[in-house]
Amino acid sequence: VVQRYEGKAKVVEDVVDGEGLVRIAFKDDATAGDGAKKDRFLGKGACCAEVSCLIFEYLRQRGLTTHFVRRAGDRAFVARRVKIIPLEVVVRNVTAGSLCRRLGIEQGRQIDPPIVEFYLKDDELHDPLLTEDYIRLLGLASREELDVLRREALRVNDELRELFRRARLLLVDFKLEFGRAAGELLLADEISPETCRLWDGQRSLDKDVFRRGEGSPLGGYREVLARIRSVLAGEPVS
Ligand code: UDP
Repeated sequence: VVQRYEGKAKVVEDVVDGEGLVRIAFKDDATAGDGAKKDRFLGKGACCAEVSCLIFEYLRQRGLTTHFVRRAGDRAFVARRVKIIPLEVVVRNVTAGSLCRRLGIEQGRQIDPPIVEFYLKDDELHDPLLTEDYIRLLGLASREELDVLRREALRVNDELRELFRRARLLLVDFKLEFGRAAGELLLADEISPETCRLWDGQRSLDKDVFRRGEGSPLGGYREVLARIRSVLAGEPVS
């Protein structure tokens, strides 16, 4: 029996005869506000899968280890099976989103050095912000593991900032998820315009377009994909 897990945005299935491997397929469904807002955008899954593959391949080239193994069709990739830690690890370079709401500060202010935050992945609780003590109380990660997560997240941030800078995009913030496999902590899940805030001047090319009810975010996502492709091909970004 092939194990299958379907989430809001992805379907994860065991790879037959693939030792410890899963196939992660991206859906066209979009949700926001802990699942309260729902829609579907044809082609979104393929676009976000492609961005994720390009980014994971780029990180691998830069010497970072992730769950990514290889592409699998136009909306999926094969990854190592991990046990996801129910933490959302958020890195922020510029103030935006929940940070501004929580602290009552304006958006668009540089944050230097970048901030790393941990949220609990739990829709019913609305993904609360966690302190280190809360994380240990819940038994989610040890102090040593938290140090590893923070260090890895900041390394990913260094690489992604540079990639997006070359794509003429400002990496405002993003969310990572990590998992455990054979005693190892691995960067997992996806990295795409669904999980990053990307600004071109005043324009958002990310999920905020959908969150704010400004129509389809797909135009922005495709622009992000096209620009990353150009950067990785060594072509100028217009
Ligand atoms: N993010 C995400 N999934 C979530 C919550 C946040 O991918 O469930 C990303 C979001 O796209 C942004 C960053 O994490 O790039 C920080 O989000 P924030 O805490 O500001 O939350 P929001 O304003 O989206 O509620």
